[in-house]
Amino acid sequence: MTQFSVTDTNRVRRVPKRAAYDKETVYAIVDAALICHVGMVGEDGRPTVIPTIHARDGDNLLLHGASTSRLMNHTGAGHDLCVTITHVDGLVLARSVFHHSMNYRSAVLYGKGSLIEDPAAKMAALAIFTEKLIPGRWDDARQPNATEMKATHIVSIPIDLAAAKVRTGGPVDDEPDYDLDVWAGVIPMETVFGELIADGRLKNGVTPPDYVRSFVAKGE
Ligand SMILES: Cc1cc2nc3c(=O)[nH]c(=O)nc-3n(C[C@H](O)[C@H](O)[C@H](O)COP(=O)(O)OP(=O)(O)OC[C@H]3O[C@@H](n4cnc5c(N)ncnc54)[C@H](O)[C@@H]3O)c2cc1C
Repeated sequence: MTQFSVTDTNRVRRVPKRAAYDKETVYAIVDAALICHVGMVGEDGRPTVIPTIHARDGDNLLLHGASTSRLMNHTGAGHDLCVTITHVDGLVLARSVFHHSMNYRSAVLYGKGSLIEDPAAKMAALAIFTEKLIPGRWDDARQPNATEMKATHIVSIPIDLAAAKVRTGGPVDDEPDYDLDVWAGVIPMETVFGELIADGRLKNGVTPPDYVRSFVAKGE
């Protein structure tokens, strides 16, 4: 299993038994998420964290956006970035307020980005983005034209360092509290997609493609 190096930057100190540094664990968390939060420090030294869509191409995290956006221009300019991804899997109710928690999978990634300039590489990255959103979409929807390509920046961030932290299981109470008549346990939580809502301007006879139906049926 390939591991990220563990340095002073990414070493999980608080509850280290929940940490993982292998790419398999980190990338599963990255790939399962629809969005990430990109942390960056601006020219004025002030940190900003911006939520956005991401995709992954091997060991590179991809971001895309308007060529005029600060997010794209800052992340594409080689500054240090920290990207976080979080899934909440459940509420953990303990007998004491102190020990309430959540089950989660989270990843913190570090790297410096650059703009993808090569038109073919840019198009390939957009395909990865679209297919991550919903597999089958790239070949079905109209693909970007030259004007749209010009208006879009793609940033590739080689993931230099990363850590995952995962909490599973029930509450851990203080021994005397197990005698309390307080319900304790986990309320599991998952993200589900709802029923399809057809666009009001859909042409007559255009029905949802199989890849959309199966995506919703699988509850991905
Ligand atoms: C859904 C959720 C809810 C949480 N709620 C709380 C809360 O209420 N209070 C609280 O104190 N903590 C909470 N945590 C844990 C929190 O993310 C931190 O791990 C913890 O606060 C320790 O932070 P630190 O900077 O002291 O960690 P350190 O262990 O000092 O961090 C060192 C390095 O470890 C890595 N790291 C730290 N935390 C994570 C992480 N979660 N995922 C991946 N890598 C990580 C980073 O690279 C970081 O720079 C929660 C986490 C999640 C995902």
